[in-house]
Amino acid sequence: MEYLLIFLIPTVAAAIIVILAKRIAAHSFKCKHCSKMFHIKWTKVIVTEHSENEYKLLCPHCKTKDWCTEQPII
Ligand SMILES: [Zn+2]
Repeated sequence: MEYLLIFLIPTVAAAIIVILAKRIAAHSFKCKHCSKMFHIKWTKVIVTEHSENEYKLLCPHCKTKDWCTEQPII
């Protein structure tokens, strides 16, 4: 039973992280410098420094690395 939990807990935790990251990646992000919108991969969501709905990303349009705001899905 313990062995099952040791295997199950990290698997479930990893699955939740992937699902949440994919949901965040479905949103677009707005650059504060050029006001353009862009998307990022879900894998990047996991490794990117963030606070609430702000993500520190490299803008593909103006190449500035700064805090970008997560936009709601319309
Ligand atoms: Zn930009």
